[in-house]
Amino acid sequence: MSQQGYVATPPYSQPQPGIGALSPPLRGHYGDPSHSAPPSGIMKPAGPLGPTAPIGVLPPGPPNPGAHQFGQNGPNISGYTQQRFPGLPPVNNAVPPYPPASYPSPVSTSATTQLGHQLGAMQIHNYGPGMASGSSGIPAPPPAASFQGPPQLPQPSILQPGPRIPPPPPSTHNGLSTAPSLPPGSRQDGLPGSSPPTANFPSLPLPGQPPGPGYPPQQGTNYGPPQMPGAQLTSPVGFPGGPAQLAGPTQPPKKLDPDSIPSPIQVIENDRSTRSAQVYATNIRGQVPPLVTTDCMIQDQGNASPRYIRCTTYCFPSTSDMAKQSQLPLAAIIKPFAIVPPNEMPLYLVNHGESGPVRCNRCKAYMCPFMQFIEGGRKYQCGFCNCVNDVPPFYFQHLDHVGRRLDHYERPELSLGSYEFVATLDYCRNNKPPCPPAYIFMIDVSYSNVKNGLVRLICEELKTILENLPKEEQEETSAIRVGFVTYNKVLHFFNVKSNLAQPQMMVVTDVGEVFVPLLDGFLVNYQESKAVIHNLLDQIPEIFADSNENETVFAPVVHAGMEALKAADCPGKLYIFHSSLPTAEAPGKLKSRDDRKLINTDKEKTLFQPQTNIYETLAKDCVASGCCVNLFLFPNQYVDVASMGLVTLQTGGTLYKYNNFQKHLDSQTFLNDLRNDVQKMTGFDAIMRVRTSTGFRATDFFGAIYMNNTTDVEMAAVDCDKAVTVEFKHDDKLNEDNGALIQCAVLYTTISGQRRLRIHNISLNCSSQLADLYKSCETDALINFFAKSAFTAVLTQPLKTVRDILVHQTAHMLACYRKNCASPSAVSQLILPDAMKVFPVYMNSLLKNCVLLSRPEISMDERAYQRQLVMSMDVADTQLFFYPQLIPIHTMDVNSETLPVAIRCSEERLSEGGVFLLANGLRMFLWLGVSTPPDLIQGIFNVPSFTHINTDVTSLPEVGNPYSQKLRLTMSNIQQKKPYSMKLTIVKQREQPEMVFRQFLVEDKGLYGGASYVDFLCCVHKEICQLLS
Ligand SMILES: [Zn+2]
Repeated sequence: MSQQGYVATPPYSQPQPGIGALSPPLRGHYGDPSHSAPPSGIMKPAGPLGPTAPIGVLPPGPPNPGAHQFGQNGPNISGYTQQRFPGLPPVNNAVPPYPPASYPSPVSTSATTQLGHQLGAMQIHNYGPGMASGSSGIPAPPPAASFQGPPQLPQPSILQPGPRIPPPPPSTHNGLSTAPSLPPGSRQDGLPGSSPPTANFPSLPLPGQPPGPGYPPQQGTNYGPPQMPGAQLTSPVGFPGGPAQLAGPTQPPKKLDPDSIPSPIQVIENDRSTRSAQVYATNIRGQVPPLVTTDCMIQDQGNASPRYIRCTTYCFPSTSDMAKQSQLPLAAIIKPFAIVPPNEMPLYLVNHGESGPVRCNRCKAYMCPFMQFIEGGRKYQCGFCNCVNDVPPFYFQHLDHVGRRLDHYERPELSLGSYEFVATLDYCRNNKPPCPPAYIFMIDVSYSNVKNGLVRLICEELKTILENLPKEEQEETSAIRVGFVTYNKVLHFFNVKSNLAQPQMMVVTDVGEVFVPLLDGFLVNYQESKAVIHNLLDQIPEIFADSNENETVFAPVVHAGMEALKAADCPGKLYIFHSSLPTAEAPGKLKSRDDRKLINTDKEKTLFQPQTNIYETLAKDCVASGCCVNLFLFPNQYVDVASMGLVTLQTGGTLYKYNNFQKHLDSQTFLNDLRNDVQKMTGFDAIMRVRTSTGFRATDFFGAIYMNNTTDVEMAAVDCDKAVTVEFKHDDKLNEDNGALIQCAVLYTTISGQRRLRIHNISLNCSSQLADLYKSCETDALINFFAKSAFTAVLTQPLKTVRDILVHQTAHMLACYRKNCASPSAVSQLILPDAMKVFPVYMNSLLKNCVLLSRPEISMDERAYQRQLVMSMDVADTQLFFYPQLIPIHTMDVNSETLPVAIRCSEERLSEGGVFLLANGLRMFLWLGVSTPPDLIQGIFNVPSFTHINTDVTSLPEVGNPYSQKLRLTMSNIQQKKPYSMKLTIVKQREQPEMVFRQFLVEDKGLYGGASYVDFLCCVHKEICQLLS
């Protein structure tokens, strides 16, 4: 068989979003099954990803020079620059959008050791049991003097220069009143002319105060915006050591100008204005990408697109001591199946035939741009482990005068950050090519689901959904087979074989040891069995119309689905539509335990844990069989999401929840979710491995994943919305010349049953200067990491401990920056690294989230649900979730393409005459001020006045005027990019539902605790002062 170098996809003018984007391999890559001996007894192909992988048969001969479409594949290829390897000059002089990150030296770091000792002694980043009591002790408030600073005059200066700008005159230390807006391009991306990387925010001096002898030493001042209704309702419990000390009824409220503290909106808008018009090319090591909120075109030039990988910092510290000192987490958020927009290049598929991918003999890393070819092209040195490998004969190519292979730009795996390999049989279960996946629909037909119309709704919708099962681009029909089960406290399987006149039902009553009563006819091709399936879907609502059965089972349902997939020897997804606590006598039976007594006690964590370990065992078995569990919950009361959701979380599935489902209000949200999920780009039976260059390694993984050992991330399925957050730790010193290299490889089965490897590579810088770390960090990614690590810690730690750790670590990171990187300044000033300017407001929102801080109106199920959702979110999802988008709709220009700029999430930004749209990825609100102009109301709702507006709806009417159209389009655009369908709630100012809405105004003090942004800044500042004193 001749060796096809790779199979190129069509130019990017023709891609299909999602599944169809990759061209199929050309020929028999699964070849003769006898060509390699199967490793016996291995269910998972641990070999190829592990250290003992066979490297396959190496056919002789040079590569076929014929298949070189890659180099001519569109205009974006020609501009490649190659700057990854020191010593290799760029191929051409295309000007990269950003110069390589090179920064002026930071200020002296001589003082770092002392702080390092302090930080180290506190063991901040440790959720281990030893931390529990120690960290909950909040340091006493710092001496007043250190907090308050010298006598001060109010001066209009907020942004104090960082290292690159001479220190300001001392008199500007304290001023705060008129914050000049940030200049465009103020991020830390090394742009020439960008603003200083440090922002100073004096937290105490207040505008309008008479110049005087500094601040009164009392701790009682409430710095929250005093006009905020509700601010005085309760004493804050949101974070330790913070506003509790600051707030006091006896002090006159003072107003800190909210415009003087860093604004997320401004940071987002600045990044948009400087970077959205550019093409972001990934050719530079350690380059910080545009923010997730900035739309721009991304061009893979040797590192994975930020759509696939984002990092908390793009410059790693050289030593573990530095890492400990800064407390900056080193993590990557990997979304291996991210959808790329149509104007970007889909992934190339590389097919080395029976040889399989070329891999390092020692560390098993896959061929990638980080491998350096030497000795005339006969050998290559692995960028990860430095091992010198022979180039397999079929892969040999000569080098040019700069030591680069002549086919460099013709092979995706040599010149791109992301690509796919066709996997050989060595990478398949039992060395057999996999079968295409199957989807099994499992409907709870107990009384309440039948009565509220849900069963009929699902059956009707399935007829449409099944017509649109995902398929490969070039295939006419989907290869996915489908099966159907209904259940209450027994299970009903359906035979829908195409030759039957009527579907046949088989009842399994023994739920203790569930089995699959039929093999032939259960999983079928939809098109072939369409008539029988439609017949079945028509009959199901009738069969159970008179059912009085209230009890349900759950674990046996999952078990049955898994057994069915196992029997068919294929991976797949279960779609389970369930509504109640499974109380029927069966394995996995649950009892109601929504135990409010435990809230705010050390035992609160148990409410996030499953109440029986059977679900964990079940999840493990499911993963071993490639069975992914998607769960659609329709609860009217407690269903124990913490227990039932576990199997979903650990199998890479998605959990959807529709409280008190009402058909006329919630159908659209549910059906959108279901359609979207069925059609999602998904990899099945997946196993991910993250390799790194020497000196550091991946230590912790967070996501909808299962870990059977410390290195293999198993996912029964992984879809385009799922992201895995990976934390790295040093095990040695990193070399500044080599940087820090990361390779993520995902072995998976496609929707048509091909086994493939998807590879993402990224190279980061290393530095022995702390300032470089802070310049290259990304707040949105940091928040993603902190959210997932904290939401993992709630399973084992008291919530207060988890919150304390987050507050401490925030202070430590900022204190370390101030001590080692910032210009000397008065201790009263709060100084934030430019790249972390809005870190505190996001962190405060995380601290106030109902997972970490209970609220009376939020059920335990809702908390467990939100916890689970966040665990698999990517950076864009967590950004929106913790800082919702709030758009002043009344300022919308219907004649303009652009949307009004969002406003900050605070009540004081709302106006009585305005209409505001808020979205956080799970919910959407349209808030209407009491003085909204009637013509606006008419335009949106087609009713004459505020009082006529019906709030008992979940969608807006189609009014048919440009205003209504633009608003509806805006809402649909916000929705489009998000994995969950957001239910719309209409909120009128000063009516009861406003209480719910206000919880999303995350800069304000929470109604039931949780600090305001201003209070949190004060709290953090205080702790920083203490660390520095
Ligand atoms: Zn290696």
